Amino acid sequence: MTILDVKSFAAGQWVDTDSSARDIYSAITGEVIARAGNLTLDVTGMLDYGRQVGGPALRAMSFHDRARMIKALAVHLGQHKQALYDLSFATGATQKDHLIDIDGGIGTMFVFASKGRREMPDDTIYLDGELEQLSRNGSFMGHHVCTSLQGVAVHINAFNFPVWGMLEKLAPTLLAGVPAIVKPATATCYVTEACVRIMLESGILPEGALQLVSGGLGDMLDHLTNQDVVSFTGSADTALKLKSAPHILQNSIRFIAEQDSLNASVLGPDAVAGTPEFDLFIKEVCREMTTKAGQKCTAIRRIFAPQAQAEAVISALSDRLAKTVVGDPRDAATHMGALVSLAQKRDVLAKAEILSREAERVFGDPDGFAVMGADQGAFVPPMLYHCADPDQAEHIHAVEAFGPVSTVMPYRDLDHAISLVNRGQGSLVASVITHDPEVAREVTVGSAANHGRLYFNNRDSMKESTGHGSPLPHMVHGGPGRAGGGEEMGGVRGVMHYMQRTAIQGSPALLTQIGNRWVPGAPQVTHHPHPFTRSFDDLDIGDTLKSDPREITLDDIETFAHFTGDTFYAHMDEDAARRNPFFPGRVAHGYLLLSFAAGLFVQPDEGPVLANTGLDKLRFLKPVSAGDSIHVHLTVKQKTPRNDDYGEVRWHVTLFNQDAEMAAEYELLTMNAYS
Ligand code: NDP
Repeated sequence: MTILDVKSFAAGQWVDTDSSARDIYSAITGEVIARAGNLTLDVTGMLDYGRQVGGPALRAMSFHDRARMIKALAVHLGQHKQALYDLSFATGATQKDHLIDIDGGIGTMFVFASKGRREMPDDTIYLDGELEQLSRNGSFMGHHVCTSLQGVAVHINAFNFPVWGMLEKLAPTLLAGVPAIVKPATATCYVTEACVRIMLESGILPEGALQLVSGGLGDMLDHLTNQDVVSFTGSADTALKLKSAPHILQNSIRFIAEQDSLNASVLGPDAVAGTPEFDLFIKEVCREMTTKAGQKCTAIRRIFAPQAQAEAVISALSDRLAKTVVGDPRDAATHMGALVSLAQKRDVLAKAEILSREAERVFGDPDGFAVMGADQGAFVPPMLYHCADPDQAEHIHAVEAFGPVSTVMPYRDLDHAISLVNRGQGSLVASVITHDPEVAREVTVGSAANHGRLYFNNRDSMKESTGHGSPLPHMVHGGPGRAGGGEEMGGVRGVMHYMQRTAIQGSPALLTQIGNRWVPGAPQVTHHPHPFTRSFDDLDIGDTLKSDPREITLDDIETFAHFTGDTFYAHMDEDAARRNPFFPGRVAHGYLLLSFAAGLFVQPDEGPVLANTGLDKLRFLKPVSAGDSIHVHLTVKQKTPRNDDYGEVRWHVTLFNQDAEMAAEYELLTMNAYS
């Protein structure tokens, strides 16, 4: 059998292994299948290349350009994923596991691509939060902006997800405009290398955007600067060692850590045997124990059941686990494959031994356990423990056996369950299977602070729920304390880990130019033709229409009231309206004002404005009575291309009364055709 030489990709060149390379073993046969590592790898050259070649190229692209690039990469990977499936079996993973790692990674890229287009501007500066008025008259304002870090992101990944682990970090990094150097765990780096090769050979990425270290990183981390980021997934020991290095601390180098986690799942007090929730719980726990042979950072390690249900839980779980076929992951009949290596198997068994000091094993005996035809493989059976006294236990709440190992524990009441869940001292996720909204609220109040994610499921959501163990690109992944204190993904939040937030203070005109978004008080240009006659491209930020005035009559108010059915007393009953502290007497409907505003600013002919798609931030500021007159200012606030045919224009709309007081303010969204 040929042994794969797993290469690195440094400064635009594939680099071979050298004599220092480490052997990599098949999880199924225990044979050496690959080698990785090269002591002479020029790690500082890689950093320079990323900073000088990849960074500038990515920063020249807008968020939308980068999002399109990420989508193209995802499409390309989807077309070539069979090669990754084929390689991944040797990691011990089944075809179902591949769907989580490989398809899950590609899916994550699609979500980031979509969020980049929909939630970020077609620009290189991202505006964070709202404008802040810092002075009485609004001539000095503040805004937070986020810009790309000017260094590289070093991604150090765990062995369990050679593809997803890379892509879930890579997508937000590239969207942020930062080049990445990926260092996969050596045990499964041959799969990552193949994935990197597919991406590089696609020609979709700019030069320098992605480099790969297969094997050791050398002293790369000692050459990082404050513009670089380390994002790490793996063991708490390695995380501590790396993040506490003096160079990292002295230079305040960002270090995102995702590490061991004693995730819990709670069977709600209401979810007794016989309810749909009980069956769902058994299914979820069993799935989490056996998927990827339990080698998931989010897997359920601690199972909490109401005291009276503990026996039923053990019995139902044991029955279900007994049906789990452990075997060669290439065999379609196999439910659970192997651990990644014999070294990992030794580690899992040693940790299970520690758990057995406080808990009794009630299912699965690893002694003499073997899979026919693969007796050198890293196979273990699912192992279920029962710890009758979780209050006294220490190891159960602290030792992560990174395999199909979990412990059932009884709880007295919900407060007790919450305190036990929190003994994980910070976890990535906890799940609660309950149909009782009060339980969900109490667990959230009592334990959300200890978790990066809480997952509730019951009969109403079970058909569509995504699973306790699945981190989703839309939601944050990471957890406090033992889980590393890091956070990844969570949509655009995940992009911000690779950008610098800066408070910008200045005049409205300067802030408008910096952010490409009109700020009240900045110049308004009124001499152009009507903005509704101009295409998306022809409109400039700040272009403004100032309408003629229109008087509001009592007849208008009554006609509108009867036409719409909105005969609320504030519009129809003078005495009642006067008794209301907000109104001087009968007033015009807010929606009447909006309708009249549209009548004042639209240009009726067929033209580039295709549709009105919404209103944001509507505020009625001053009542308008019969006899008052209103006029409108309509200003182009922001422009965002949406597809090949049209883009979204966000207009700032202000309604004034005859005394130039603001009566209402809102943002109007339209879709406008390109020229
Ligand atoms: P490690 O912490 O040993 O390795 C994680 C990553 O760090 C790997 O890429 C590894 O590379 C790298 N690394 C190790 N030492 C250094 C160093 N000195 N400098 C730079 N990089 C380094 O974890 P493992 O993947 O071996 O898993 C061990 C345990 O970690 C598991 O048994 C499990 O308990 C836990 N784990 C937790 C995960 C989670 O997400 N919660 C995920 C995976 C593991 P290399 O492989 O080349 O050593």
